[in-house]
Amino acid sequence: MRFDVLTLFPEMFSGYMTQSLLKLAIDRQLVQIHLHNIRNWSRDKHQCVDDRPFGGGPGMVIKPEPTVEAVEEVQTLDANPGKLVMLTPQGETLNQQVVERLATHKRLVLLCGRYEGFDQRVCDILQPEELSIGDFVLNGGEVAAMTVIDTVIRLVPGVLGDEESSHVDSFSTGNRLLEHSQYTRPREYRGHQVPEILLSGDHPQIAAWREKNSRDRTQERRPDLL
Ligand code: SAM
Repeated sequence: MRFDVLTLFPEMFSGYMTQSLLKLAIDRQLVQIHLHNIRNWSRDKHQCVDDRPFGGGPGMVIKPEPTVEAVEEVQTLDANPGKLVMLTPQGETLNQQVVERLATHKRLVLLCGRYEGFDQRVCDILQPEELSIGDFVLNGGEVAAMTVIDTVIRLVPGVLGDEESSHVDSFSTGNRLLEHSQYTRPREYRGHQVPEILLSGDHPQIAAWREKNSRDRTQERRPDLL
């Protein structure tokens, strides 16, 4: 799967891309991440990409020309123009069902804002899918883009050691509920025991215990999911 990220701060991704699952996925050529600095499309000699808002008010707005031209050029870098996603607090809220839908694409082009966001004509012209990661305001779209990448790559075949784990994750289509409690060694820690059934080797009973545990947790924490 290919991700192209358009941002004013590509360096923010360098640590993220060299760690853990994403690094392994890149090394195994299951995932590609291409970073593009929107400033490179600025027509200004100082590479300025923002300006004051018409009508007054605080902050700066990202100009339409470098953004639209950057996206259009980046989309031509592969035969598949990909699905264009703009990260914005005003978009549809990301959840696991949206992640599952995004993971059906072979290429995602992620557009990260800064300051007061993009000039409205960027949306009017490019018609991106607008996505929010929650009802709060980040300083920029980069953390939101990493959230999209992090959630989507879990569903790319081969990225997780055990394919089953993404199917039983909380919220996933295979398990709309919260996942059951997990335990590992030691069997006892500070007086807290691992439930006996998990040590029994009786797999139908273990499955029944996990299903009940998952339902009970969901009822207690997220009854809206039931
Ligand atoms: N003034 C904008 C508003 O009130 O809707 C917020 C701009 S925010 C400071 C700058 C950028 O951060 C946005 O353009 C967007 O790319 C990103 N951003 C902020 N919050 C976000 C969220 N909840 N989800 C996705 N992106 C977000």
